[in-house]
Amino acid sequence: MRHSIPSTSNQLPPRRFGVMQELAHTPAWYSLRLGFHFLKQWYGAYNNLMLLQFMGIRTSLPLPSLWEACSQLLVYFLVDDYVNYWLHRMLHSKWLYENIHRAHHEFTAPIGFAAPYAHWAEVLIVGSPSLIGPALAPGHMVTLWAWIILRHLEAIETHIGYKFPLTPTKYIPFYGGAEFHDYHHNVGGQSRSNFASIFTYCDYIYRKNKGYQYHIAYIQKSKSS
Ligand SMILES: [Zn+2]
Ligand SMILES: [Zn+2]
Repeated sequence: MRHSIPSTSNQLPPRRFGVMQELAHTPAWYSLRLGFHFLKQWYGAYNNLMLLQFMGIRTSLPLPSLWEACSQLLVYFLVDDYVNYWLHRMLHSKWLYENIHRAHHEFTAPIGFAAPYAHWAEVLIVGSPSLIGPALAPGHMVTLWAWIILRHLEAIETHIGYKFPLTPTKYIPFYGGAEFHDYHHNVGGQSRSNFASIFTYCDYIYRKNKGYQYHIAYIQKSKSS
């Protein structure tokens, strides 16, 4: 299968771009699993009225202003990214990686389906922080739904394996994206770089971007020579 859009995997150490050869199951199996993942999250957490009322999420009119919704969404993204950064680093400890996180790293060249593909315990561990932001800065139900939709789109885009030239996310400051996370998957269990799921600043602050910086410099040098 040929693609006109360059895969981020083309910029990583030599390997064939052949997603299908790396899949343990059929695309239909991954599609069903992805659909089931969305459904269980939707009904299990984001429509649980008792939980939402306890958190302070309101469900009645009026709808939130654009300013309120956008400022809360920013908080949700920042909180989720920061908490998941440390959880992801924890998942790369020897025992947790071997018993839990390894499943997500079966994809050394991730695709969109790989975003929710993980051990059930990892789904719980890295999924829970998405409710911390709404609990800290509760807003309207529609803001929560927007948050969940945007968070899933972000996770799929981060795993999609392509660096789309027209993606609007490239204008978001400190946004990681597919190339950033692709490097983490390519290195695998030995990865000590690019732990953040959304932005890049945590890896920069805690000096966990050295491998990626070296890789980018190597690619640029190869192109110029
Ligand atoms: Zn990882
Ligand atoms: Zn991943």
